[in-house]
Amino acid sequence: MKSVTKATIELSSHAVGMAKVGKQIIIACMDRTLRCYTLKGRKVHEIKMNATVTAIECFWYEPKQYLATLVALDSKEIQMYQETFLVDQLKLDDVATSLKFGKFGREEGALVIGTKSGGLLIKLFKRTAKLEEKSHLPGPPQAQSQKLNVPKKTKIFVDQTMRERYEGQRMHQIFQRDLFMLRLHTAQAYSRTIEHSLTPVSFDPDDMVKISAVVQGFGPTFLMIIYLRTLSVQAVSNLTITFQFNPRLYSLDQTNIPVPMLVPGIEYTFQTKVSCLMPDKGLADDVKDGFEPVCFEKSGDIGGLWRYKPGECDGEASVMKSTVINSSKEMTAYSDFPPPPDFANYMHNTKMLEYFQRYTDHFQLKPYIRFHHSVLDVSRAPDFNTTGHWVVTFKDQ
Ligand SMILES: Cc1cc2nc3c(=O)[nH]c(=O)nc-3n(C[C@H](O)[C@H](O)[C@H](O)COP(=O)(O)OP(=O)(O)OC[C@H]3O[C@@H](n4cnc5c(N)ncnc54)[C@H](O)[C@@H]3O)c2cc1C
Repeated sequence: MKSVTKATIELSSHAVGMAKVGKQIIIACMDRTLRCYTLKGRKVHEIKMNATVTAIECFWYEPKQYLATLVALDSKEIQMYQETFLVDQLKLDDVATSLKFGKFGREEGALVIGTKSGGLLIKLFKRTAKLEEKSHLPGPPQAQSQKLNVPKKTKIFVDQTMRERYEGQRMHQIFQRDLFMLRLHTAQAYSRTIEHSLTPVSFDPDDMVKISAVVQGFGPTFLMIIYLRTLSVQAVSNLTITFQFNPRLYSLDQTNIPVPMLVPGIEYTFQTKVSCLMPDKGLADDVKDGFEPVCFEKSGDIGGLWRYKPGECDGEASVMKSTVINSSKEMTAYSDFPPPPDFANYMHNTKMLEYFQRYTDHFQLKPYIRFHHSVLDVSRAPDFNTTGHWVVTFKDQ
């Protein structure tokens, strides 16, 4: 004889009825729930009933191979459930207190009902009854109770999990060591780059030349030092250093420096003095010189996306109210107009807009901007090849 050592099914409310329906156990509880379990005690689903369950019975109709659960309620009803779906119900004049379904004489499906007042009813199941229809009330959707096809754990997965469980500490140590070595190598490579100014600009694989430049001094006069070194195994000759600059703004002691033969392994130094001709003059002035700039702006103000628009802004970009720049003040700044020192290094969008406004005011750019003018098209003029002209089509709104 088998002895039961632990509870297979634990209920949070007292059971008032139980039936084995196919390979499932259906238990009705005092809290008006109908709970379904596997024979091993795993819960499958639960239905909340509208009334207290008084009896429960398995409905197995062999001719149609139909399996369901019959539930008698104290609301004088008998309901038939398949899984969580109510498939049929029967109204009685009295509360059914006991149910028995099975063969009765020649009838395949007879339901014997014992009532609260002591009566006995026999209902015969109609052979023509349609059993497929399912009501979707009550209970959760069927999909919810469908078993997911979760793949079984592979051996590799299990091995790996075990390894992590028992070797976790060692794995962490190895990871930390590798990370440390990676950082060290990166730092070493970085320091080598700085030390040797590894910024090759030559694209000829036979004449690989490293070039780097250092500026000494703050202006208006400063020294530009150029370092050259060949990476080829052979000496490199016939090189010239040429400076490209705006002669209206700068003057250089030497604009072309002839380079002697570069012998591998030796670093060569060249220098030129650079003077800024109009230190008070910025790039914006340079742009103006000799030109009448025109700026078309379809909206009514400057700032572009940095002008925060709280509502819907059809066709216009806008930062969010909280946006802060993600490039530093120094990186973002116009080269001829640094942002005020009291502005945060990572400016809030309102400060960014203020910076643009200050820039526009400082260089008096507003007269050159045509607000409420939309550019419709920009294309090369027919004589572009000789004049470099473009045709801009715009709309004055
Ligand atoms: C959310 C966000 C955050 C960013 N943060 C940074 C950052 O922190 N740092 C950084 O360096 N960059 C950042 N950027 C990149 C961004 O591209 C630049 O900051 C900058 O705003 C781009 O300027 P823009 O003039 O090209 O465009 P916009 O600022 O969008 O200005 C375009 C202007 O052109 C006008 N216009 C559009 N179409 C027409 C037309 N057909 N005719 C006439 N006028 C027209 C518009 O009304 C608008 O005023 C960010 C971008 C976004 C979207």
